Amino acid sequence: MIDKQPSCDDPIEPELLPVAVALQRMQQQVEPITDSIDVPLRDSLHHVLATDIISPIQVPAYTNSAMDGYAINSADLPVADTEVSLKVLDTAWAGKPVDAVLKRGEAVRIMTGGMMPKGTDTVVIQEHVQVDDDHILIDGTTSAGRNVRQAGEDINRGDLVLAAGTLVNPAELGLIASLGIDTVAVKRRLKVAFFSTGDELRALETHAGKDLGPGEIFDSNRHTLFALLSRLGVELIDYGVVQDTEQATSEAIERATREADLVITSGGVSAGQADFVSKAIAKLGELTFWKLAMRPGRPLACGIVNGCRFFGLPGNPVAVMVTFYEFVQPTIRAMMGCTTAEPQLFSVKAAQSIRKVPGRIEYQRGVVEVNSSGEQTVRTTGKQGAGRLSSMCLANCLIVLSAECDGVSPGDLVQVRPFFGLV
Ligand code: AMP
Ligand code: MG
Repeated sequence: MIDKQPSCDDPIEPELLPVAVALQRMQQQVEPITDSIDVPLRDSLHHVLATDIISPIQVPAYTNSAMDGYAINSADLPVADTEVSLKVLDTAWAGKPVDAVLKRGEAVRIMTGGMMPKGTDTVVIQEHVQVDDDHILIDGTTSAGRNVRQAGEDINRGDLVLAAGTLVNPAELGLIASLGIDTVAVKRRLKVAFFSTGDELRALETHAGKDLGPGEIFDSNRHTLFALLSRLGVELIDYGVVQDTEQATSEAIERATREADLVITSGGVSAGQADFVSKAIAKLGELTFWKLAMRPGRPLACGIVNGCRFFGLPGNPVAVMVTFYEFVQPTIRAMMGCTTAEPQLFSVKAAQSIRKVPGRIEYQRGVVEVNSSGEQTVRTTGKQGAGRLSSMCLANCLIVLSAECDGVSPGDLVQVRPFFGLV
């Protein structure tokens, strides 16, 4: 009888490392970069604040109307079921305040954002008044202080608005602009080098549109990595395709780790005879090789070479994406000194049964959709091979099935990681 070695075909391999443990170990090793640079506000998008943003002003800067209507003194509001007529003196447009100090019985037409005139504290919306020439008739339905934004109600001068470590997304960018700040200190961009390994790979740079020879495939992982990394605001160094020899792999790793803060490769990390990445890392620096309790993405090589962090991702295209999201992205954010929390998982009802044996976390490609009863459910995209990148394109989420999960029945709650964030 053949004495079989442990493999990714086994449901349970005793030495597999749980994903959570691997993540924790990885996070412990990360040292955030400390260098920062001053950049124009718009260039700070997707970067991490190096210093706190303290407000130099109060927001709103002045008390103003939240609606189009009439600014009045609440003392003029009539009791319920009665009406009162007020004289309209002037119009306060946004950016064009009126000088008048209102007396009892007077009102000012005011637009949203218009500065509240002296002597007023309430806005009656235009839909709730009856206009009669230069007078308005109001009733008692508006309460005192309604529809008014008080000066400083959002932010006070000296308030800590955004803490160092915050990732700048569209809302943060707008908020900083609202304080009149046009230059911000951000952590310098991380340099990330990446390359593909594999004798079967043909690079688009030289082979796009050409016929592939027997056993050849186009290198797609480098382009996926380019896209994944581009969203993280890092500086990219693309090293192309590296052949499956120990020398070529070692040379590429040696060069890349001297230039970058982080090096990412794909392929060549399994236990196959053409897998030189782990060997090269072990020779050049420190290697941590993990057989992870996850599918796809079982083999993952991590390490440090020339003081540079290294990730050897598996070769299968879906495994590249899943291991990137699970391990590389949080590591890059931590290296950037980012304290903004990673996106949450959500629970959604399964629309179908999903086969699964306990032992590893599985990341299945899923589609969250609303069924005919208006209920949110999730289904898989069908066949789940780690080489089918099209399954990622059909999906709008990853269905994350825990290591313990022994299958899903229709109606069970499952966890999903949506692909699209709003900001
Ligand atoms: P490996 O880990 O090198 O054994 O690769 C596992 C599988 O992923 C093989 O089928 C490879 O052909 C495929 N693969 C490896 N690198 C790439 C790449 N850069 N682009 C597309 N597929 C790849
Ligand atoms: Mg290979």
